[in-house]
Amino acid sequence: MILTYKIKHYQDFSDSLGKARQVAQFAIKNKFVLSSASVKHLGLKSMISNQILRKYGKNIKAKKVKSVKLIVPSQGISFDKTKSELNIPCVNLKNLKYYFSNNFDKINQIEIGKVYCYVSVSYTDSPLQLTNDYIGVDLNTTGHCAVVGNPKTGNILKLGKKANHIHQKYKNIRKKLQKQGKFRLVKKIKNRESRIVKDLNHKISKKIVDEAIKQKCNIKMEDLSGIRKNKKNGKSFRYSLNSWSFYQLRSMIEYKAKKQGVMVALIDPAYTSQDCSKCGSLGKRKDKKFKCSKCGHVDHADSNASFNISKRVS
Ligand SMILES: [Zn+2]
Repeated sequence: MILTYKIKHYQDFSDSLGKARQVAQFAIKNKFVLSSASVKHLGLKSMISNQILRKYGKNIKAKKVKSVKLIVPSQGISFDKTKSELNIPCVNLKNLKYYFSNNFDKINQIEIGKVYCYVSVSYTDSPLQLTNDYIGVDLNTTGHCAVVGNPKTGNILKLGKKANHIHQKYKNIRKKLQKQGKFRLVKKIKNRESRIVKDLNHKISKKIVDEAIKQKCNIKMEDLSGIRKNKKNGKSFRYSLNSWSFYQLRSMIEYKAKKQGVMVALIDPAYTSQDCSKCGSLGKRKDKKFKCSKCGHVDHADSNASFNISKRVS
C-alpha cells in the first residue's frame, strides 16, 4: 500500500520551483524529447528534471502547467530511521523530521512544493482482519467527536470530548484578536489550534483502530459523500461546524485502519440517529438523548447511533 504524507519543509525553493515550471512547460511543448540534456540550460538538477519531463511529457492532455513541484526519485533520498529524519542532498534539504510509521518498505519519491514536501511511502499490506463483526463509529461535531459501539457486547467507547472545548477556546481568542486588529496573531493562533486538533485526531483515530483490533472487529462508519446534497437525517447541519477537523479524523481512521488490515465499511447514514438500536422502530432523539416510543428503550443518542451503524448492512 502506498501512502502520501505532507511535511512542512521551512525552506525557500522558489528559484528551483521556477526552473521546474520551465522544465514542465518544455515537456508539454516537446512531448517526445524526454532527455534531461535538452533542458540542461534551465539549470535544474538532472535527477529532478528527468522526473518532471516524464510526468508532463507523458501527459497528452496537459496544455498548461499551474504549480510544478520538484520531484525527487527514491535514489535521491536517504533516511535515518532511528531519528525519523529524511535527507535530500540534491536540493540541500537536511534532517527533515517525519512522523509516519517507521516500518515502511520504501520511500518512492518526494515532491517538494512551496511549503510542503509530499512523501510517498510504501508499506507491506497487512493481512485483513477476517471477521464479520463490526464496531460502529459515530462521528460528531458536538459532544464527544467519536463514539464507538459494539452491539454484540454492549461495549461503548466515547472519545474526544476535549475537541469542542479546544475549538471553542481558540475561536474566542481569535475573535478577540480580530477585534484588536492583530491579524498576524490570529493566523498564528489558528495554526496552533490546527496542530493541537491534528494531534488529538491522531490519538483518537489510533484508539479506534486499536479498539477494533482488540475486539477482533472491522469498522463501520457512515458514508457521507452525498450528505451535503441530501439532508436525510439532518446531520449535514451538524457537520458544517468545524468540518475540517471532522474530515481529518475520518481520513485518519481510514488510513490507519488500512495500514493495520482493518476493513472500513461505509453505510448509508439515513436514520442512524433516529432508529432504535433494540427494536428498529423510529424513535425520538432530543440533543444527546434517545427514546424509543415503541419498546421504551432509552440510551445516549450517540451510543444508539453507533450500534445502528455497526448493525447496518452497507
Ligand atoms: Zn425500540
